[in-house]
Amino acid sequence: MQDYAASLTQYKRLKTREVNVGGLLIGNYNPIRLQTMTTTDTMDTEATIAQTIRCIEAGAELVRITAPSKKEAENLLNIKNGLNQRGYHVPLVADIHFTPNAAEIAARIIEKVRVNPGNYVDKKKFEQIEYTDAEYLEEIERIRDRFTPLVNICKEYGTAMRIGTNHGSLSDRIMSRYGDTHIGMVESAMEFLRIARDENYHNIVLSMKASNPQVMVQAYRLLTSTMFQEFGECYPLHLGVTEAGDGEDGRVKSAVGMGTLLEDGIGDTVRVSLTEEPEAEIPVCRDMVKRYTKATEIPQEDINERIIVPTKKYPATFEVGNIGGGHVPVVIADISKLENITPKSLESIGYTYDEPTDKWTISDLAADYIYTNKAELPFALPGTLKVITSHDHWLAAIEKEKYFPIFSADEFMDTDEESNTLNFVMLDASGNLPLSSAILEDLGRDRSVVICFFSTDTNAMQGIRKRYWELAEQDVKNPTVIITDSNWNTADEHMIHYATEAGGLLLDGYGNGVCFGMTPNAYHEAENIFTNEGAVSGRNYNTNSSIEQFVNSTAFSILQATRTRISKTEYISCPSCGRTLFDLQETTAMIRARTHHLKGVKIAIMGCIVNGPGEMADADFGYVGSGVGKITLYKGKDVVKKSVDSEVAVDELINLLKENDAWVEPA
Ligand code: SF4
Repeated sequence: MQDYAASLTQYKRLKTREVNVGGLLIGNYNPIRLQTMTTTDTMDTEATIAQTIRCIEAGAELVRITAPSKKEAENLLNIKNGLNQRGYHVPLVADIHFTPNAAEIAARIIEKVRVNPGNYVDKKKFEQIEYTDAEYLEEIERIRDRFTPLVNICKEYGTAMRIGTNHGSLSDRIMSRYGDTHIGMVESAMEFLRIARDENYHNIVLSMKASNPQVMVQAYRLLTSTMFQEFGECYPLHLGVTEAGDGEDGRVKSAVGMGTLLEDGIGDTVRVSLTEEPEAEIPVCRDMVKRYTKATEIPQEDINERIIVPTKKYPATFEVGNIGGGHVPVVIADISKLENITPKSLESIGYTYDEPTDKWTISDLAADYIYTNKAELPFALPGTLKVITSHDHWLAAIEKEKYFPIFSADEFMDTDEESNTLNFVMLDASGNLPLSSAILEDLGRDRSVVICFFSTDTNAMQGIRKRYWELAEQDVKNPTVIITDSNWNTADEHMIHYATEAGGLLLDGYGNGVCFGMTPNAYHEAENIFTNEGAVSGRNYNTNSSIEQFVNSTAFSILQATRTRISKTEYISCPSCGRTLFDLQETTAMIRARTHHLKGVKIAIMGCIVNGPGEMADADFGYVGSGVGKITLYKGKDVVKKSVDSEVAVDELINLLKENDAWVEPA
């Protein structure tokens, strides 16, 4: 049974306890709070105050500041006073790893402390140790002894706390029993939460961060379910995908993980971890949560009335051409709004035509199908590209092996002229009415049909998820495409919309293809923000030359973030903080410039080792700050080069890639 959300078939926010962070209320249907974290040295009081003010002015409702030792914890008082003197009273959060004494100081000064249960008491040695039950219990008692004083200080001073688990820094004890799994992440937090509850302390928020959205989503869902089962209630949740990276990929990865949970109604405060200035995170947070403003105004159910629905995983599909079966999800580029489609138009979706040689170059981000809704194109198409068009136009097409029809369900039921090999049939997932059994039965028997789900509902994800259950109930195994049209305004809003609506379904194993588009109004608006100079106004990263290129690139980023189709290098880079030992933004840009062509290689770029080599387990190679001007290089979880001078560390990383056959020369 699945009991992690208030509803899996329509948007309903999960009820959580209310937590008070210096007057800011989190949970219990309060607005979803936006937060970020400073990147300055905490001992640089003026720089930290200035950056905190920039974050507040961008809209941050809480600001986190690292406190690696007692002196930084003590300096939080100067920072807080400096902010108050300038008229800023946003609650501050101390970020603690390894140092209970710093936490105990900070808890007396500022409004909230974040502790990492993986390293608050355990001095992680990154060793696999076997624990007997008695030894395990002894460890829990050791945690109780060390953690209870902080709980009591928080109670006395009215300070809130976040128990913030990180996938990469689980304790040796948790790892020995659960491995670096979402189950271990949940248990790690629950051990601390049980101790706090024993002390009758409840001013607690929890988080389950991972750089892999799949792991992070599983962990949050299991945590809510575990809390309800054990306590009959749920504490507020702070959402985040850690080390998400920067630019488009960082935003898409965050929106896939956090958006999936927000659609589930889970999440009371959000932080997007970008390798950019902290104030740049706030507009992304805002774009993510504003989708739910209206929905949260709807009267909410009490938790006792939660709808409990069984999980129904959509079974494996049969294949139709290159869709479904064992194929990676396809990308269908909607270029139907282009007035005049020429070979040049296809550059935006990954196909570059060279007239003198009459050859096409196909990039790793080349769409598999185009939807044109027009008659035959007046030029020879690249061999791998196929065209989807309306039934009428398909009937007139000569090259029937390249052109395939798309139908409404009624059109398909009525026609006796369909493709022998591949037909796309649209099914409307809007509203709550079930799909027609007769239609499903017919489609299920036809081995040439790909079902295309679309919805006009505002939050469409849950409705489409319900349709997948209906397919499963009727044993319909046709491959499916998720069609998502956006009616938002800015490029980032569109991107978050696609990532949230389709990403959530892909993460759960649904969908054999995606087709993203815009409503006519939104497309018209978008024409104004994509300029002729190839830039998107209002954005300072990853420019796109056209709407079509932007949408196509977003589709591949979403498939990459959900790990359903890998088409580029993946960067797991931390946002940096006061612990950072080098310039994260500059170094990430340098590494990206030299490695962006290494399709499928995952590279972690971390300011320090606080989050542990666990995050590196998800990466193939790691570049980690280990001292001032010093870098440690990892292969998987293993250190391979220590204390490399930062001047030559990027070259050394490239050498490491070469030594491990992960390098190819750029084209
Ligand atoms: S990994 Fe990065 S953000 Fe995390 S503590 Fe280290 S430097 Fe700070």
